[in-house]
Amino acid sequence: MTESAKWREGIRVLISAEEIQAKIVELGKAITRDYAGSELTMVGVLKGSFLFMADLCRHIELPITCDFLGLSSYHGRTRTSGVIRITSDLNQPVEDRHILVVEDIVDTGLTMEYLLENLSTRRPKSIKVCSLLHKPEQRLVETPIDYLGFTVPNVFVVGYGLDYLGRYRNLRYVGVMEDAE
Ligand code: 5GP
Repeated sequence: MTESAKWREGIRVLISAEEIQAKIVELGKAITRDYAGSELTMVGVLKGSFLFMADLCRHIELPITCDFLGLSSYHGRTRTSGVIRITSDLNQPVEDRHILVVEDIVDTGLTMEYLLENLSTRRPKSIKVCSLLHKPEQRLVETPIDYLGFTVPNVFVVGYGLDYLGRYRNLRYVGVMEDAE
């Protein structure tokens, strides 16, 4: 490991940058096809989805608007608490709009359940979910994932937007911290 790569020592690649980018091309095509003739509001869930949202929206050949929503769902370092709150809300109303929620990972599903309930009270035309990752073993509530990147095992993942104590979001791949395995 070179000196400059030390900051990412101990992280094993689970999904490579190339695999992520190839999947995003596929997802972009599917979304473009499914919403043909419509306008779409992409709602990114901060902070974890910022890279995914940025790459995905460039593969959607439709008129779109992008908005972001901040949620906090944990207290612990690597465990979801189940207590969810909005820390920063959308800038624009979504009434009568097609919403595509863009999330980094659906783990227990509690965050997505809360978010879908909240957004549906704003009377959008439709709501669908696109998540880069899904950890099915951890699922506590059934929430739909209309567009999914990858299914991952029950391990704590970092990279490509996902953090551990605020770090590693800038990795181009999704990895597992070896000492958490
Ligand atoms: P859920 O409510 O589905 O349990 O958790 C959703 C949120 O928990 C995600 O948006 C993400 O912020 C965080 N999360 C869940 N699993 C992981 C993980 O393996 N790694 C990281 N970095 N965050 C996770």
